[in-house]
Amino acid sequence: MKNRIAVIGGGPAGMIAAATAGALGKNVFIFEKNNKLGKKLFLTGKGRCNITNAGEVEDLIENVVSNKSFLYSAFYSFTNNDIIELLSKFGVDTKIERGNRVFPVSNKSSDVIKALEKYLSHEKVEIVLNKEVKYIEKRDNDNFRIEFSDSEEQYFDRVIIATGGKSYQQTGSTGDGYYFAQNFGHTIIDLRPALVPCEISEEWVKKLQGLALKNVKISAYVGKTKIFEDFGELLFTHYGISGPIVLTMSNYINRYIGEKINIVVDLKPALSDEKLEARILRDFEKYSKKQFKNSLDDLLPRKLIPVIVELSNIDEDKFVNQITREERKRVINLFKNLRMNFSGFRSINEAIVTSGGVSTLEIDSSTMESKIVKGLFFAGEVIDVHAVTGGFNLQIAYSTGYLAGLNC
Ligand code: FAD
Repeated sequence: MKNRIAVIGGGPAGMIAAATAGALGKNVFIFEKNNKLGKKLFLTGKGRCNITNAGEVEDLIENVVSNKSFLYSAFYSFTNNDIIELLSKFGVDTKIERGNRVFPVSNKSSDVIKALEKYLSHEKVEIVLNKEVKYIEKRDNDNFRIEFSDSEEQYFDRVIIATGGKSYQQTGSTGDGYYFAQNFGHTIIDLRPALVPCEISEEWVKKLQGLALKNVKISAYVGKTKIFEDFGELLFTHYGISGPIVLTMSNYINRYIGEKINIVVDLKPALSDEKLEARILRDFEKYSKKQFKNSLDDLLPRKLIPVIVELSNIDEDKFVNQITREERKRVINLFKNLRMNFSGFRSINEAIVTSGGVSTLEIDSSTMESKIVKGLFFAGEVIDVHAVTGGFNLQIAYSTGYLAGLNC
């Protein structure tokens, strides 16, 4: 009789794992608790799905934040080109955008899901929807007993846990896999939000809600130690800051939670202090007869001006030609070092990915098999690996899913 394989979770990791095992002629069942596959995949890339990243494999590894070396085997076994070719075979053409981000030409994540569904049918995988796994145990005769929420139980020779992380729980990723893994004796590395917006304690931030600043530099400090620095786009929100560089920053500062973290924004990273001073002097000359509050239009977005004026402690009605050198220095300092206090992350439910998960020390990186329980495999976000934005997290899902499917 053919091996019966259970794949738990119908996200990208589970779908690739199941189809890979199916292609090898195994008898594969994929159990998904939702009424459709890939609910989170549907949301990716703002509905456009940033499928993968077209960089070299070394670039993929470089953009992983935790446990890079664990992913070598997976990334080399199933590459970005492999997923692009696979999707093309099942009807999805792709294009490359800024930062090597790969998207479907149609800009529809639903097309990616449809292609993966076709792949599953092609490999004769049995898709079981609305089927929630409640409990898994290994029996004496070496097979696994799976208990479902409808009280049914079934038996399998191998099990692949591909239940995802703990964020965006409405998509079905409620962290069940961590509980299953723990029951088997696996260590779960602290679960934290990653790629998540940040809350800021200063009240003035709220006044900037909706303002997007392109090409700024953001740095984060614990005491005097710089723990992060990057350039890009920052978005102010009603609770603090978000946008691409802030999400990336969250991946690096989440290990300092509990310590006081300061965030410093350089609004004019292309200008040195001297060049900025010359620029401001030019504007102050041009607007010498105007009030301070009306003198910054050429330098700052309109919404930011009242905030900078307030933070400078310079009377907003003061005429520009009366501003002292010391006051001007204060303005320059605000442009170059706009300081904020980080007061926490938004909840894990708002995180793009979960950092932490099943310890990589307990999984064989070349097969994804548990080192603790033979016949048990892991794939995707449930493992303690995550990356920055750019298509890398989905590539982790496919590559680890592939190895699990191949070796189960
Ligand atoms: P998931 O996609 O979370 O799938 C897990 C599945 O398991 C779910 O369908 C869930 O319902 C099912 N499941 C859970 N428990 C059970 C159970 N007990 N029984 C049965 N089924 C169960 N990454 C990128 O690379 N590019 C992007 O553009 C991108 N955009 C994103 C946008 C958003 C808003 C979010 C939230 C994430 C984004 N990501 C992106 C990250 C990416 O979506 C995830 O890393 C990826 O989906 C993880 O895949 P997975 O298969 O491991 O888990």
